[in-house]
Amino acid sequence: MRQLGILGGMSWESTASYYRLLNQGVREHLGGLHSARLQLHSVDFAEVAELQRRGDWPAAGALLAEAAQGLERAGAGALLLATNTMHKVAASIEAAVQIPLLHIGDAVGQTLHQQGTQRAALLGTRFTVQQDFYRQRLAERFDIEVMIPAPEQVEEIDRVIFAELCQGVFQASARDFYLECLAELREQGAEVAILGCTEIGLLLEGVQAPLPLLDSSEVHVAMGLEWLLAS
Ligand code: GLU
Repeated sequence: MRQLGILGGMSWESTASYYRLLNQGVREHLGGLHSARLQLHSVDFAEVAELQRRGDWPAAGALLAEAAQGLERAGAGALLLATNTMHKVAASIEAAVQIPLLHIGDAVGQTLHQQGTQRAALLGTRFTVQQDFYRQRLAERFDIEVMIPAPEQVEEIDRVIFAELCQGVFQASARDFYLECLAELREQGAEVAILGCTEIGLLLEGVQAPLPLLDSSEVHVAMGLEWLLAS
């Protein structure tokens, strides 16, 4: 089996799901005692979130690039960056290593494209939904029109991600609010909702949503598994 490097801890709540899902996937494919060959570099998220808040993306990129080099030295043959937001600095990471970064936007885009989706709603941090790095990739590479919530909803969705979800707090009030935003986006023509933050799937697990959900962490893990199990 190949060996996959995970850049995680952003937050560890969702990295724990990546770890579980990758191992479950290997067990499903190979059976018995097989488990995923992984390297994990888990950061202190407070440090990264502070750099995000200050808009110091070069420093955040350098921090993750150094972590990626460590994973490469330790034998990883490809990388999964287990957060949507930090794909803003994907280019800094890619420039620092020889191994490929399996991009979460490509995992999402390929899935939407295969499903024939044209208009997708995007939920995530304010960085992911308001800046270009994620939406542009979906538009240019996969021809997806991305719809985002109203500005005050973006603020509240972002607040919930950092003040609750990334701290392991999953409340009915947040769930209801997210579902309200999704209902509005469906009314505006969204066919599917991208859960473009790796913790949102944990909040909405098992709920009846107003439109089909595409969990970025699930399709990202699937991309990682495909790489891991390829010979
Ligand atoms: N895990 C989240 C994401 O997928 C947010 C944490 C972060 O800002 O990296 O975007």
